[in-house]
Amino acid sequence: MLNFTTKTAIVTGGSRGIGKEISEILAANNYNVIAVATSEQSLDSIRDIKNIHPFCCDISDKQSIEKLYNYISDTFGYADVLINNAGIHMDNILLRMKSEEWTKVMDVNLNGPFHLTKAVLKDMVKNKCGRIINISSISGTDGNKGQGNYAASKGGLLALTKSLAKEVGRRNITVNCIAPGLIETDMTAHLSDTVKKGYLDRIPLKRLGKPKDIGQMILFLCSNEASYITGQTFYIDGGMSLN
Ligand code: NAP
Repeated sequence: MLNFTTKTAIVTGGSRGIGKEISEILAANNYNVIAVATSEQSLDSIRDIKNIHPFCCDISDKQSIEKLYNYISDTFGYADVLINNAGIHMDNILLRMKSEEWTKVMDVNLNGPFHLTKAVLKDMVKNKCGRIINISSISGTDGNKGQGNYAASKGGLLALTKSLAKEVGRRNITVNCIAPGLIETDMTAHLSDTVKKGYLDRIPLKRLGKPKDIGQMILFLCSNEASYITGQTFYIDGGMSLN
């Protein structure tokens, strides 16, 4: 049985896919989970789950993050765990990429985690305790055609993870990164069979991952048993990054 002492977790992008699974698994392990998404309608999917507290917040908007932080301070005091999971992609080859496509992806995938991490970090430093986990992507290390903006944002998260781990380790705060491969969610549902087959050819385990493959790792990284792990990136990709 894993041993948990931390109690309040923020999960961005908690309404669907990987973030919903993370929210559910933490809630089932007695965390108070503040699950964040962009609309009340999308949060309906988790509204009735025990220990989950849905909160509408656009993480690309600083004021919206301030409201989220105020809600957490007023209701729970502080957060012990932050999972920066929310992410979007707006794919295009660089020659055709509009600056809005670049900026929007950076605002959600990299600037959002920066602002939210900064907001919750002060309390973690004061408490000398905290877990921050960033959800990156193998695109962040390998790059991907047509995903210059997405890959740059995810590579930025990897570098942010390592830098912050060095800064706050002495405060007993761990900062880690998970780099999923191809996971079955809305984000990958639109891929054609041909594209999926191309990916499957590169995956030694010959299947797409499931959100629970990520959720289980998050649960471990939040436990006391993971207290000596920081600044690391864990590839959960069926071996895809080996190729
Ligand atoms: P998804 O099914 O598309 O869900 C995205 C989640 O992010 C939704 O809950 C969405 O909320 C939320 N979100 C989007 N923009 C937001 C914003 N501005 N503010 C707050 N929340 C926002 O995605 P997923 O596949 O679960 O992916 C989760 C993370 O894993 C992402 O960072 C993604 O880049 C990364 N990842 C996924 C894969 C994969 O194969 N699926 C692979 C590598 C990395 P709404 O419901 O309100 O839209």
